[in-house]
Amino acid sequence: MFTFIFWLAVVVTLGVLYICFVPTGKSPITGLWSTLPNRQEYMRAHPAEVTPNGRPQCFHCHSPETLDVGLARFTDFRRTIICSKCKRQLWREQD
Ligand SMILES: [Zn+2]
Repeated sequence: MFTFIFWLAVVVTLGVLYICFVPTGKSPITGLWSTLPNRQEYMRAHPAEVTPNGRPQCFHCHSPETLDVGLARFTDFRRTIICSKCKRQLWREQD
């Protein structure tokens, strides 16, 4: 009986570690991020929002100011560019 409980505890522990630490690309956060356009797709979809100097701006409120935030943490290489005025997500980038 002790052996069964021991192996059950080992399997449960490994399962929890796998779920928490192995990136599968299927998390809700990553899935939503991957649906955002990249910068070139955003500029093609909203050509009227590209300034004469080639910088895209928000197509909701036309603000040229953007914020570059990490997806899961500050240093995440997966970046989301959001409008600094209306806080809507505009495009995604990878550093
Ligand atoms: Zn905006």
